[in-house]
Amino acid sequence: MTAKPADNLSLDMKVQFIKGVGPGRAGVFEKLGVVTAGDLLEYYPRDWYFAPEPVKIEDIKANHTVTLAGTVESTDFQFYRKPQYFEAYISDDTGNCRVIWFNGKYLQGKITPGMKLIVWGKTSQFKGQVQLTNPKFRIVEAEQITAEAFSGPVYPAAAGLSSRQIQKIISGSLERLAGVVPEFFDTAFLKRSNLIERQKAFEWIHNPKEEEQIQKSKRRLKYDELFLMQTALALRRYKNRNFSKALPLKCSGQIDSRIRKRFPFLLTEDQNKVIEEIVSDLAKSIPANRLLQGDVGSGKTVVALYAALVAVANKAQVAIMAPTEILAEQHFINIERYLRGSDVKRVLITGGLTGPKRKEILNDIKSGDTDIVVGTVALLQKDIQFANLGLVIIDEQHKFGVSQRAELRKDTTPHCLVMTATPIPRTLAMTVFGDLDVSIIKNCPPGRGEVITRYISPEELPRAYEFIRERLRAKKQAYFVYPRIIDSEDGETKAAIAEYENLSKNIFPEFNVGLLHGQLSGADKQKIMDQFRRGKIHCLVSTVLIEVGIDVPNATIMVIEGADRFGLAQLHQLRGRIARSSSKSYCLLVSQSANETAQSRLEIMTRSSDGFEIAEHDLKLRGPGELLSTRQHGLPDLKIANIIDDFELLNLARKDAFELVEKDAMLKSAGHKNIRAELGRKFADSLGLVDVG
Ligand code: ADP
Ligand code: MG
Repeated sequence: MTAKPADNLSLDMKVQFIKGVGPGRAGVFEKLGVVTAGDLLEYYPRDWYFAPEPVKIEDIKANHTVTLAGTVESTDFQFYRKPQYFEAYISDDTGNCRVIWFNGKYLQGKITPGMKLIVWGKTSQFKGQVQLTNPKFRIVEAEQITAEAFSGPVYPAAAGLSSRQIQKIISGSLERLAGVVPEFFDTAFLKRSNLIERQKAFEWIHNPKEEEQIQKSKRRLKYDELFLMQTALALRRYKNRNFSKALPLKCSGQIDSRIRKRFPFLLTEDQNKVIEEIVSDLAKSIPANRLLQGDVGSGKTVVALYAALVAVANKAQVAIMAPTEILAEQHFINIERYLRGSDVKRVLITGGLTGPKRKEILNDIKSGDTDIVVGTVALLQKDIQFANLGLVIIDEQHKFGVSQRAELRKDTTPHCLVMTATPIPRTLAMTVFGDLDVSIIKNCPPGRGEVITRYISPEELPRAYEFIRERLRAKKQAYFVYPRIIDSEDGETKAAIAEYENLSKNIFPEFNVGLLHGQLSGADKQKIMDQFRRGKIHCLVSTVLIEVGIDVPNATIMVIEGADRFGLAQLHQLRGRIARSSSKSYCLLVSQSANETAQSRLEIMTRSSDGFEIAEHDLKLRGPGELLSTRQHGLPDLKIANIIDDFELLNLARKDAFELVEKDAMLKSAGHKNIRAELGRKFADSLGLVDVG
């Protein structure tokens, strides 16, 4: 089917009907995430060039900013010079010119003889010759040495669609497309907020005449993107609060003291503070939606159990869910410790539970006989029916999925408490978790032994082994963590299986060494963990698997090899495993990386034990990564804004968005029509918004 380019453009029309696209290119565009004309408009350039008009080489003088276009005659990397520089001679039909880039090692192989190059920058005099030093450059095809090649946008290209082709397509329809873009705000608001018009922003971002236009259009488009996201979150929160009802679960002084008697310790100040927040949530008929953050071992489970017992005291049922069976079992064991002798009916559901036994258990849940059900997150998606589910507690550990919460709400509206051990930087908490209330446990319960963290090189391992041997003789246990299961091709990174052989045969033959990794079956994993828990295995060799699910206070040593391969947050999580005992623990980070960033990251670990501080460092050093991926949290990815770099704009957008929803929650007023329509287009699927669009 061949389609004729459309005359009447709309943002929802398929990109195929845009002039210059057609079915073939539409396929390529789709891979780039561009399906509609609106997507095309939001296919932003990744860079812009503003070179002055080109001049002929024979005309250039020193100390001018010029553009040259020509052929690369020769190149050389002067590595023995100090400083090193990359040198190219460029010629046009009037002469040739020396161009150098200091520290330009990265240009080796990138700029090569024979290619056409446009360079622009400042000229200088060197040994009587005029040359260009550290100019900007652009590699071009011969036929591209036209006026347009010297300025304009650069698009992320794909196989079968060059930046240049994309530019042609967009610029061909830009005016008309931008012309149908609706404005969200009135002039007064735009002025007050220092934002340009939305139509103009699209025109300028794709076709700027000067740097300033880029900055202004970026600001507007980023603001819009963040504003829409925050409005969607504000609406989700509004919907949750006004369209669903929960069972109010009241806590009395009597209930409180009865629950506290279950704990063989006094709750910490932080625990009391978050319990107060949760108790006040639960008492309302609005479903609670709270995120409870705290490091591993900070005492979240105790807080969760408190909440669960409040629900039970109100004759409501509680589901406690963990990401894996191992973790679910851990929770169950933990809870058992506190509930021994109580008449609260609790049950653990695992995949291994089948037949009549399972049926009986499910019946008890359905009849309302069972108070607390512990299992994996699959718990509520299966055939399990509750008589009166009042509270759902989800232990997410590291990952956190908004969509899972949505699924939970299908037929019930229990209060919802999500626990996570990931210290979530404020930036993140405000965006993807923007519709949640957040409670934080900052300080761990008293009596924790210190964890001493050292950063060592592989050469120091023999000494470390002797130190570990002494601790093992003193009946302590140790973890050995590796970034891989099997050896890598390069042989650089040690792997769990090979090191298991080495440790069990050569290093610690007198002790029991166990191996745990993701490719083992569930039952095998379980067996190994049990043996480690019971002290039958002294050293546990593992991949990051142990990050989730092991709680063995007697394990006070952890060796992490290839430590530079892990993120800081991940190292912190791992280290949390040995912070559970009252005696001193030792964490050895082994790395041979000579990379400075890697080294300074590992040094942060030796200095700090504050998960939030470490997470902020990690965020700055490694970028947002998947923790901040909005898609993972059920929201579309951001195309132009960046949660970290644009944090101030995010704050502004968030304030405006929540104010808007406060004033006109259904966005019914005429002035909000366009915002409403855009939200419908962008978020309807992912948020299941009420009546939007
Ligand atoms: P988390 O779920 O945050 O990892 P837990 O609730 O499992 O932490 O608590 C970790 C350990 O600390 C458990 O052994 C628990 O018994 C103990 N603990 C929790 N709260 C306190 C407290 N207030 N005082 C002393 N020990 C506590
Ligand atoms: Mg826990």
